[in-house]
Amino acid sequence: MNTAKRTEIFRRWREANPHPESELEYGSHFELLVSVILSAQATDKGVNAATAKLYPVANTPETILALGEEGLAKYIQTIGLWRAKAKNVIATCRLLIEKHGGRVPNTREELQALPGVGRKTANVVLNVAFGEHTIAVDTHNFRVANRTGIAPGKTVEAVERALMKFVPKEFLLHAHHWLILHGRYVCKAPKPDCPNCNISDLCEYKHKTPDPLAEPKPKIPPKEAPAKMTIAKKAVVTKTAAKSTAPKKPAPKKASAKTPAAKRAKAR
Ligand code: SF4
Repeated sequence: MNTAKRTEIFRRWREANPHPESELEYGSHFELLVSVILSAQATDKGVNAATAKLYPVANTPETILALGEEGLAKYIQTIGLWRAKAKNVIATCRLLIEKHGGRVPNTREELQALPGVGRKTANVVLNVAFGEHTIAVDTHNFRVANRTGIAPGKTVEAVERALMKFVPKEFLLHAHHWLILHGRYVCKAPKPDCPNCNISDLCEYKHKTPDPLAEPKPKIPPKEAPAKMTIAKKAVVTKTAAKSTAPKKPAPKKASAKTPAAKRAKAR
């Protein structure tokens, strides 16, 4: 895909949604960090349902640490991998208090040193909380980057590198959200909604979902084949051909005026 196409894709996404936002509900950098840790292999909706009960009770490193693993688990049991996540969140709260004065750090190194925080989570926090030009690659934007041709790659790391290289700078801040939202609601995993996609004329995916309302293409009749010859016809043709090739019989000789018979006829 060339730069002009990529620019036009992001221009359209920006026009349709100038200020895209995370669908996770949070009210502080700390809540954002905890919600992103909880969202690994879980839906934003599921995380929001759990944190809607947790945050009114505990939403700081100190108050969540006071809940302990067992206390926190009660709020997040509906989320996948909740045991490991409870352990990580409690350990992260402890580290934030001990090393960062209870605040969420703003560097990749410090973030990734927190339990349960990998590159993707760090990218989300750096982008959403601190406005850095990072792109967190999840299942949605991995799919969109590859299908469209915006930034193809076989691994999450390769796609992140390609996105950072190919997405025009003016769109980098929100690229992550536009890609995720497009993947979640339009370019869906099992069946992309290509007929309702606002970039379908620019997307390079080869197996687009056809538009059910599209006019069927007119059927082109096959070139007229020479009619098959019937056996009877064949016989006629063969006979005619045989006639034309047979040696011709000599024409009967005309009566000569000098023969006696001719002379007699002339005399009458
Ligand atoms: S045209 Fe289809 S495959 Fe391409 S981005 Fe849109 S929904 Fe996805």
